[in-house]
Amino acid sequence: MLIPQAEGFRILGTLFSSSLFPYRAPSGQVTLTSYVGGTRAPDLALRPHDELVSLTVADLRVLLGVTGEPTFAHSVHYPRAIPQYELGYGRFKDLMNAAETQAPGLFFAGHYRDGISLSDSILSALTVADRIQTHLTPPA
Ligand SMILES: Cc1cc2nc3c(=O)[nH]c(=O)nc-3n(C[C@H](O)[C@H](O)[C@H](O)COP(=O)(O)OP(=O)(O)OC[C@H]3O[C@@H](n4cnc5c(N)ncnc54)[C@H](O)[C@@H]3O)c2cc1C
Repeated sequence: MLIPQAEGFRILGTLFSSSLFPYRAPSGQVTLTSYVGGTRAPDLALRPHDELVSLTVADLRVLLGVTGEPTFAHSVHYPRAIPQYELGYGRFKDLMNAAETQAPGLFFAGHYRDGISLSDSILSALTVADRIQTHLTPPA
């Protein structure tokens, strides 16, 4: 679930990790992955682990009706996690194209170029792998 800013919660969203993937939680329990911070509230992500867990659980109580306390909690801070495709980002893509043209054999791939989702990143890698293969294959 993604949570619009207007809703007034502190988490940005939650993945239902143990519903998506097997072996992510002991029997009778679930694993949820929630996101805090982002460009919406970058400083919130700097709060200590215990505070992050507490504010996340508080939001999940309202949103999902969660009761009780987590049996396990883990937090990771990604300081520069996801590229922001803001207005004008095309300039950076143009620069990457220009750099590749000027330096044959240099290739850019990843979430900063072809879209931020994991599937976009995989497609980006496959595309660049094809381009590298073409680059390395001598003309017949
Ligand atoms: C917290 C978070 C949650 C996300 N959730 C989702 C989601 O639910 N669904 C979804 O579709 N996408 C999600 N994304 C987005 C998606 O996961 C990423 O955009 C995608 O994984 C990016 O793939 P990538 O290969 O471009 O970059 P990365 O996965 O960042 O891989 C880059 C790799 O390069 C390595 N590296 C960096 N610099 C160097 C260097 N100088 N030398 C050698 N190695 C280097 C890094 O260590 C890293 O392993 C999420 C991203 C984050 C951060």
